[in-house]
Amino acid sequence: MPLMRIPYTDPLPAPRIIPSSAASTAGAVEALVRFLTSSPGELPAPSRARRHLTPPSAALQPSPTAPPPSAAAADDARLRERKTLLLTGAGVSVASGLADYRGTRGTYTLNKTYRPTYYHEFVARHDARKRYWARSFLGSANLERAKPNAAHYAIGELGRQGIVGKVITQNVDSFHPIAHPTLPTIELHGYLRTAVCLSCRREYPRQEFQEELARLNPPWAAFLQEMIASGALDTENPTERRRRGLKTNPDGDVDLGGGVDYSTFQYPACPKCLADPPVLANGERGIINVDANGAWLPTSTAGVLKPNVIMFGESISNAVKEAAEAAVDNAGKLLVIGSSLATYSAWRLAKQALELGLPIGILNMGGVRGEDAFFAHVDESDKGESAFRCAGPAEEILPQAVDEIEKLTGRRVNASETCANIEAVA
Ligand SMILES: [Zn+2]
Repeated sequence: MPLMRIPYTDPLPAPRIIPSSAASTAGAVEALVRFLTSSPGELPAPSRARRHLTPPSAALQPSPTAPPPSAAAADDARLRERKTLLLTGAGVSVASGLADYRGTRGTYTLNKTYRPTYYHEFVARHDARKRYWARSFLGSANLERAKPNAAHYAIGELGRQGIVGKVITQNVDSFHPIAHPTLPTIELHGYLRTAVCLSCRREYPRQEFQEELARLNPPWAAFLQEMIASGALDTENPTERRRRGLKTNPDGDVDLGGGVDYSTFQYPACPKCLADPPVLANGERGIINVDANGAWLPTSTAGVLKPNVIMFGESISNAVKEAAEAAVDNAGKLLVIGSSLATYSAWRLAKQALELGLPIGILNMGGVRGEDAFFAHVDESDKGESAFRCAGPAEEILPQAVDEIEKLTGRRVNASETCANIEAVA
């Protein structure tokens, strides 16, 4: 079972742009449209062959044995009917005002000492939970104000155009389901919109949980109001935001710097477990003790609420893992957007697509982990039919690609109408 691990924090090498014309925005739009609309059956045979990728790190698991080449040929007909699968990461939410991890203004780039809370710490330690929830309490207000951007809405349009069939996202900000509720999204690393009880698994809306945190922690609530009043949350510019006293990370954490005392922060117990203590794995009934205000006390043995995201060191559930793998199996192409594939859970899906012989595209502003291997087979003459690599901003390129595809579709309709008119005149 894959664990969430701390991704590589080293800068990745600059990408090879494919085709080279995709270095300009207009060229990137043209190549992306070609990538999204060309039929996999039109590809030259070598591009369709199943490929193997040597993991860039010896720590990775060995690749499974690929089916024989005859199976690849049989897949081609099915591929033509299959839609593009998107795999998105933090880069797609940067235009919404959320920092990514390793872009030029990313968390790892600006704050070398950033250290997230690990799952095992969160589960085991009251003080780790205080620290997490305090930072999250402040960061959540910023996340609530952030909205999906043009890239998310363009993805919804690509769904309506019949180009994209599904989205897998590493993001926990819920922007995909908000922007395109009818185009299915698999949230690989969970989502921040609920808190989940570690004992009974009941989920609570994050907004309600946030209100509980505010009620239990009046000084922190006052500090948050100060932050809002200072305008630190009004700007999407991370530099300006920091100048006004606020640092946020993509997982919704606020970084307050050193010297902050989290020990006074309080968090609530699971209301369901409080009313009806659950039976624990050891067969004993759980104990939930709260203070006069309802704050969870460390004499408790159950009823701890956790953000419903996969934390570092935590496993992705088998159901989500299998759904993501099935989405790759059933896709015609894979387009990675705003991800450097630095987390293993995302990288292995791209690797699976490569081994299936799917055309792979990457739209990401920085380098991508081991990306040379994804494009090693790509011919210099390829104009986007079998591969696409662009380092431009998704929120500019995707909406233009949607418009171009609309025109292409419209042109086909107009052409047939013109033919009909000519016949009528004749
Ligand atoms: Zn519970």
